[in-house]
Amino acid sequence: MQQLNIPDLPGVTIQLRRSTGAKRLSMRICSLTGQVKLTAPSWVPMGQIQAFLIDKQEWIRGHLSKMSPVSVIEPGAIIPIEGHPHELRHAPKGPSHIGDGALYVGGRTNHFAAKVEGVLKAHARARLAAACDHYAAKLGRPFSSIVLRDTRSRWGSCSAQGRLMFSWRLIMAPPDILSYVAAHEVAHLRHMNHSRAYWDCLTDIHGPWEKKRQWLHDNGASLHRYQFDD
Ligand SMILES: [Zn+2]
Repeated sequence: MQQLNIPDLPGVTIQLRRSTGAKRLSMRICSLTGQVKLTAPSWVPMGQIQAFLIDKQEWIRGHLSKMSPVSVIEPGAIIPIEGHPHELRHAPKGPSHIGDGALYVGGRTNHFAAKVEGVLKAHARARLAAACDHYAAKLGRPFSSIVLRDTRSRWGSCSAQGRLMFSWRLIMAPPDILSYVAAHEVAHLRHMNHSRAYWDCLTDIHGPWEKKRQWLHDNGASLHRYQFDD
């Protein structure tokens, strides 16, 4: 991996990967991180790669400007919880909790982001457990456990052992989106695939799901712009 820069795009680093298998130059921008990745066949000379980048700089600039900036988790910041904006506040006296348009972090201010994450995870777990119980009862099949992760590539998964995994960031999405993902994974308890029978089963227990799936496709990346690492 080699790093390149374009003089007219200061601050943007392009990761160049040489590949013997590649037939042509190809570029992609990660919608979550804004990382620009360029793959070039090993035989293409550097001059041609630089010309390609200069040719594409307006395209790169356009893409990066459309991306939402990363939001830092600190007192005063606003984050969505169940689809509604909540202000992050420090409330040293009481325990951490969510209420009237705010998330209050109790105790000392150290590890503020980690404490916010803890509150969100607990809330996500409660909502996801309730939704999974509801849909599993409708389906007539139990699940074995619920695991929360911070996955970027998927919102949920279901193992052959009936273990359901979810991204805790779903608690930031509107409640019907979280419900849809819960139903989606619960329906996999019966069909471990995306066959016609699977989608029929999902419709049976959940109702129409297309708009919710589209919401995740269109807006899912925005839930990843909040940075919780201290
Ligand atoms: Zn699925």
